[in-house]
Amino acid sequence: MSYEAYKNNQLGFTTRQLHAGYNPAEHYRSKAVPIYQTAAFELGDFERCIRLFDYSEEGHSYVRFSNPTNTVLERRLASLEGGIEAIALGSGMAAISNTFLNIAKSGDEIVAVNTLYGGSRTLLNNILPDYGIVGRFVDDENDIESYRKVITEKTKAIYIESLGNPGMNIIDIEAVANLAHEHGIPLIVDNTFATPYLLRPFEYGADIVCYSATKYLAGHGTTIVGAVVEKGGFNWLNGKFPQFEKFYDEYKDTIGKDILDKTMFTKRLRIRYLTDLGAHLSPTSAFYLLQGIETLSLRMREHAANAQKVAEFLEGHPKVLSVAYPGLKSNKYHELAKKYFPKGPGAIMSIRLKGGIEAARKVLEEVKVFDYMVNVGDAKSLIVHSATSTHFGQSKEEREKAGVYDDTLRLSIGIEEAEDLIADLKHALDSIDE
Ligand SMILES: *Cc1c(COP(=O)(O)O)cnc(C)c1O
Repeated sequence: MSYEAYKNNQLGFTTRQLHAGYNPAEHYRSKAVPIYQTAAFELGDFERCIRLFDYSEEGHSYVRFSNPTNTVLERRLASLEGGIEAIALGSGMAAISNTFLNIAKSGDEIVAVNTLYGGSRTLLNNILPDYGIVGRFVDDENDIESYRKVITEKTKAIYIESLGNPGMNIIDIEAVANLAHEHGIPLIVDNTFATPYLLRPFEYGADIVCYSATKYLAGHGTTIVGAVVEKGGFNWLNGKFPQFEKFYDEYKDTIGKDILDKTMFTKRLRIRYLTDLGAHLSPTSAFYLLQGIETLSLRMREHAANAQKVAEFLEGHPKVLSVAYPGLKSNKYHELAKKYFPKGPGAIMSIRLKGGIEAARKVLEEVKVFDYMVNVGDAKSLIVHSATSTHFGQSKEEREKAGVYDDTLRLSIGIEEAEDLIADLKHALDSIDE
């Protein structure tokens, strides 16, 4: 009898979320993934130390670079995503900022959509420009000509989200990936709201996927974690990325050309940025993530089924002006949802209320099952007023472009009984003054 499920990527998603990337025989046959709570590892002998530091041998020296608990998480994520390699970092923003720094240097540009997560937008708009990396935003994320207009010789990537926040907009990933490849640049997708269970952007041509694993992957609102997954196969030596050419020359003889050809993005991210900017993920947090991922598919099914029921209820309520959820037939992204989200377009939605900001305040005061929180992707249901929280400080014009009005509430639908969630929202909405 030989346990082999850990290395069989042909197994189904739910089987892999329990087994992929962890071989107990290498860890005293501990069935749970051990937490290697140490700051460093013994180097062994003189020659081995050199091999670890020139990366000709896989292994661990200092935990900021890598450690065995995080390695299991990284292998599991790569398997679930259908990618070649993954890297775990201390937060979603660490994953995204390190990705931007890896792809672009001073003088370069990144093309992105307007509907980005607030932190990602701030990076591209306010932080990275001070270091010479500039974000260029497309006018209409569903019009491919809009992307063409802002792509220049300096553009090094297109960056989108698979489900926008909070408008739940869906982008035609395949079309944008084709456009990126026409220009010799990669498509990077923040797939946080979807998770690899509902959507795997690599299947539609994306090259890099970023996660705030804090949300559904962790699943229980306990841990801040980020991840980057590489599909493998993008040609980083096509003349547009001198930093990768330099890296390739430096490491081709030790890491090996074959490996670098497939994993250049994550290798450089680890060796250059994780190592020296230090956005390390603690092995204990990696363990919590692995626990969460064990039930990912089960939770996502419940999340999506509940979200559909709640959205249908909200659409019929007289105090609700509109519901943004692509699972609704009336939603402008419904056709794209059918193509990209056959298992359901996630469980986050935003609604607009007829009674303006005062109605939004009343709903927040009256809900008793939903929690008033800025987080999303918890097993518990959460609600927030975006304009005064996640999108605080943005101009009215800027936030309305992202679908955030004074009367907008964002809901993250949990896995409670749908009937209880609907009753809670009904009570809160019914109590809005006429
Ligand atoms: C939360 C979130 C982030 C940031 O992740 P952290 O783990 O909080 O750093 C990035 N993108 C999206 C879509 C998010 O929801």
